[in-house]
Amino acid sequence: MSTFLSNGLVFAGALILAASLGVLQRLQATSPTATLRRRWRLLSGMVLFFIVGYLVYALIMGDENVRTAGLIVPSVFFVGACFVWLAVRLAWQMSQTLVRVDLLEKESVTDPLTRVHNRRYLDQRLGMEIARARHSRSPLSILLLDIDYFKELNDRYGHPAGDQVLDQLAQVISSSVRATDVVGRYGGEEFLILAPNTPLSDAVLLAERICEAIAARRFSTVDMQGQLQEICVTASIGVAALEQTMHEAQQLIRTADQRLYQAKGQGRNRVFPPPAQPGRVTLPRENLSEGCALR
Ligand code: GH3
Ligand code: MG
Ligand code: MG
Repeated sequence: MSTFLSNGLVFAGALILAASLGVLQRLQATSPTATLRRRWRLLSGMVLFFIVGYLVYALIMGDENVRTAGLIVPSVFFVGACFVWLAVRLAWQMSQTLVRVDLLEKESVTDPLTRVHNRRYLDQRLGMEIARARHSRSPLSILLLDIDYFKELNDRYGHPAGDQVLDQLAQVISSSVRATDVVGRYGGEEFLILAPNTPLSDAVLLAERICEAIAARRFSTVDMQGQLQEICVTASIGVAALEQTMHEAQQLIRTADQRLYQAKGQGRNRVFPPPAQPGRVTLPRENLSEGCALR
């Protein structure tokens, strides 16, 4: 009877360890870094070693007539296996919780429509970048971009088509800036770009590049009748750089906003202040379809 119980405990322990291996596999597969993956693999190796040890023990002791005191070792084996399984399960649950927290954190700073940063993140990050620029005495510029005649686009093609343009336009901006620049949706059809370590003259050139990229792009949308439409849009950008006299983030934003207003006033599809050497001819555009027809 004792022999049967002893072997039962050892085999049950080996089975529990084998189940732990499955969880360890999942932990390995979902670990974000190579170091973590290596460590989970090492633990899997150790668990495998235990399983072999358990089986060898059961084989050797299988025929022995085990006395009651001899059940201590198999019991320790069994509880040890339960311990490993519990620890591995807890690690898995913890890792899943961390993944969820990370996702929630990302969602809280991401605009759901355009997948760029949202206003909350931009406000926080601008404060940080201003502090960093002052501390390291490095330049900091911002670009405030507003789509031209966007209301007209919505009226003509429908709000869902407008949403599709916003989404694609955000990707055009993101692919035009450096990895260290920060792109976010500041309001309805306004985007803010933070350009650390960038003086005004360089930021104006960046704004020109973004304006050109947007004007050159045909945005694929589906209109209210379900028809595919290739829409052309343009944008205006106000550019401002951090100055000694500015004491808060709002002053920098206000300057960019005033300059955006000037870019609109001068005919749209342009940057204010303009680049020192204009590199492109800004086409006047009366309405959207003419804008497309010009190209
Ligand atoms: P301007 O060239 O002077 O900027 O003209 P505009 O028509 O772009 O400016 P206005 O401020 O009059 O209109 C902005 C429009 O943006 C109005 C609003 O319906 C639209 N809009 C704001 N947020 C969204 C959005 O999330 N989706 C869509 N489709 N449209 C939006
Ligand atoms: Mg606007
Ligand atoms: Mg607009």
